[in-house]
Amino acid sequence: MPAQKNNLYSIDSADNTKLKDLFSRTVSYLRLSLTDRCNLKCLYCVPEEDRMQSLSGLAHNDLLSYEELLRVVRVAVSMGISKLRITGGEPLVRRNVMPFIEQLVKIDNLNDIRITTNGVLLKKFAKPLAAAGIRKINISLDTLQPERFARITGVDCFDQVWQGVEQAQAVGFSPIKLNTVVMRGVNDDELDDFVRMSQDTAMEIRFIEFMPIGSSSSWDKQAYMSSDEIMERISKQGKLIPVSREKTDGPATMFRVGKDAQGKVGFISPISHRFCDQCNRLRLTSEGMLRSCLLDDRETDLRSVLRQGCSEQDIQQTLLAAVRDKPKGHEMEERLKNQGENCHGRMSRIGG
Ligand code: SAM
Repeated sequence: MPAQKNNLYSIDSADNTKLKDLFSRTVSYLRLSLTDRCNLKCLYCVPEEDRMQSLSGLAHNDLLSYEELLRVVRVAVSMGISKLRITGGEPLVRRNVMPFIEQLVKIDNLNDIRITTNGVLLKKFAKPLAAAGIRKINISLDTLQPERFARITGVDCFDQVWQGVEQAQAVGFSPIKLNTVVMRGVNDDELDDFVRMSQDTAMEIRFIEFMPIGSSSSWDKQAYMSSDEIMERISKQGKLIPVSREKTDGPATMFRVGKDAQGKVGFISPISHRFCDQCNRLRLTSEGMLRSCLLDDRETDLRSVLRQGCSEQDIQQTLLAAVRDKPKGHEMEERLKNQGENCHGRMSRIGG
């Protein structure tokens, strides 16, 4: 078949199937949100009015099935996706998640599969995950104080999460990254404790800027702390020694605090030092929408395509269309300065 030169989504030549956007960024990292359900209700993730009630989540049929997800991942990998993160909601609450992960691991040329979890079920899942071949894990933990944990997450289960962290260490996950959203007046008085943990253990503590996402989440200007401010506070505890990054590392800038530190601290600064020019990510929400920027609400409906008896080429075209739609950068900092709107997407369906 002759190449359709005028068709930007043409997949006739091998080059046109590469997930390259209009700004020459190559998309090689796919984040799958397996479910919008979660066993925690974190104050920065779940809108205030929803924290008071039990959340049912999407109907099962609204989620992409495991078969649909595997089909999409196989096509995406054939187009250059080499890194995949399983997230949610809480990915470990989705029924039969282990057989799905065992199938994912078998996909040729997909050698880097990671998971992000709140750790509540990790004591049970750490071993099977490791046995399936998953080695890299991010655990979200915003406080080391059990009572505060209950206030932030709405559930009193810090000990259970901590046992999950210990089990992940015991079965050999490496690296173990702890994701900590820093919020002034909520947990910023624990920065020293987290840094100490990065000095005493091999864990990586990644301080994340609190993002204004979700139309009625608890974000407010007072609670937001920039990475520069966090860094300045931390530097009182020891010299921040830069650590060189690997190619597959995310956007965090990494340091050891003091030369004897066993672990590292990292800073993820989506607002103050946006990393859009290096962004290689595409997200698939729990209901099958492709989202090319976390902080931009434009999405491409892949689920409808999948449910209309589509071919592999149709999936390719839809992935290419979503990548083509990737904005040059998000405008969140400017929007905030001008008292603009939050981004409306819900983290639980997008997956962070
Ligand atoms: N349930 C899993 C977990 O807790 O890790 C995965 C989903 S969670 C939405 C993914 C990540 O998004 C978590 O590390 C969480 O801290 C982060 N997150 C959620 N809302 C955020 C916000 N408003 N600002 C910064 N990070 C946020």
